[in-house]
Amino acid sequence: MVHHGSCLCGAVTLQVDGDIPAPDACHCTACRKTSGHYFVSTDVKRAALTVIGAEQVSWYQSSEKVRRGFCRICGSTLFWDPPAHIDWIGVAMGVFDGPSGTQMHIHIYVSEKGDYYQITDGLPQADTTPQ
Ligand SMILES: [Zn+2]
Repeated sequence: MVHHGSCLCGAVTLQVDGDIPAPDACHCTACRKTSGHYFVSTDVKRAALTVIGAEQVSWYQSSEKVRRGFCRICGSTLFWDPPAHIDWIGVAMGVFDGPSGTQMHIHIYVSEKGDYYQITDGLPQADTTPQ
């Protein structure tokens, strides 16, 4: 199974080989600001991810340990990239075309969530990233 995705303008396209791991929804302030709401992403093994048009990805170092990738042309949020010695990278769920075949499994950093919505889907909620 191969899943395809792209940014809004199509300058960056990607392919994930295999199943898309269950995504999480992060409600932290940084994810809310960069995504415009809360940020749902899947942690994909780096070896399973192919990015075409990677030269169009701009990176913003949002903290000492994390950089966030977005399309330099259309601004689409694409990646959440932790230190390179971790073998996975977060890919924004919004980039995928067609059925993802997966389901969100947890909300994280819920203590920083906005006051304008409620979490009512019954999924687990955590105040930090589960280790
Ligand atoms: Zn784009």
